[in-house]
Amino acid sequence: MLVAVPTETLADESRVAATPETVKKFVALGATVRVQAGAGLASGIPDADYEAAGATVAGDAAAALAGADVVLKVRRPAEAEIGLLKNGAILIAQLDPYGHEDAIRALAEAGIIAFATELTPRITRAQVMDVLSSQANLAGYRAVIDAAAEYGRALPMMMTAAGTVPAARVFVMGAGVAGLQAIATARRLGAIVTATDVRPAAKEQVESLGAKFIAVEDEEFKQAETAGGYAREMSDEYKRKQSELIASHIAKQDIVITTALIPGRAAPRLVSDAMVRSMRPGSVIVDLAVERGGNVEGAKPGEVAAVDGVKIVGHLNVPGRLAATASTLYSKNLLAFAEQLIDKQSKAIAINWDDEIVKATALTRDGAVIHPAFQPKA
Ligand code: NAD
Repeated sequence: MLVAVPTETLADESRVAATPETVKKFVALGATVRVQAGAGLASGIPDADYEAAGATVAGDAAAALAGADVVLKVRRPAEAEIGLLKNGAILIAQLDPYGHEDAIRALAEAGIIAFATELTPRITRAQVMDVLSSQANLAGYRAVIDAAAEYGRALPMMMTAAGTVPAARVFVMGAGVAGLQAIATARRLGAIVTATDVRPAAKEQVESLGAKFIAVEDEEFKQAETAGGYAREMSDEYKRKQSELIASHIAKQDIVITTALIPGRAAPRLVSDAMVRSMRPGSVIVDLAVERGGNVEGAKPGEVAAVDGVKIVGHLNVPGRLAATASTLYSKNLLAFAEQLIDKQSKAIAINWDDEIVKATALTRDGAVIHPAFQPKA
């Protein structure tokens, strides 16, 4: 079994899909591992460390991918890379399939067995493979660090001989994995933290972190969590009530961090231009949903925008801003995912197509798109 780890080709992708630690584990599983030269550099991993872990280093993508049985990547391969994969190769990566059905079809047509790791179900057995959680956790942390860096004031209350500095008020919108980590990080920095979500389960989690929960807790709120644990898209009526409640609250905040997502849909718009302008100059908003359309009006992907003196931070690939940590966790997620596809005794690939995790993540097989959510439209 040949496992290949190419260098990511997307601009600004600083992460890598294997570390020397996971290379060692793959070698112990009986695999031969080939890493493209320079693949780990942006994550602080030199080629020599991969070699010391038992991998061979290949000069370019073609040499790294030639004949590979399993290809580990962070992002969906570009067209040119797909051409380098052998028919029947297993691809494990964040394939971002929603809205990119053509790209998924191209993988099918190339005979690739493609697994989209971000579709891993949120079940206990799959926690170790949960790339959404490992990366969102880091994004939530980094959002607060980025906000603090843009904010021209201190976050904690400070009593000094020259006067008292008040604690910053931080409001976190969306209290999933990223939001909860943002709350914890802002609290550690001494801010006064409030948070909102549409899922009732979030209330207790927010409060257990020492933040105040603010939400419209009506009948719709009680039903807002899907069986998969995600949020539903809320009605216009709920959004109106939510927006009224939030408008007066946001005006008093120094930092707002938005993380709200709905699987397979555009991110809900939570912060209007009027709300942005209601904040005092020098305030900072970080929109972690900017890649999915944004929670904040005026957020610009990849930019720090300014509206009436309020900064709106729209960094892309926020986990990649902590590349070394993000790669460490992501690589472990991928190792755990790959392990379930390998028979421990024979050390050969043995996919159980009836397995819940396999069924949820497998997009393509035998030349066809097999995932029900991404079937070509009739
Ligand atoms: P997500 O990234 O899909 O969304 C982020 C948050 O935004 C969610 O909490 C969501 O409820 C919230 N949101 C959506 N629309 C909103 C709106 N209009 N206003 C305010 N908030 C809104 O969520 P996630 O971080 O991936 O977490 C999803 C669920 O999965 C959670 O229930 C989480 O606890 C659960 N989870 C379970 C496991 C596990 O058991 N293995 C692991 C990780 C997460």
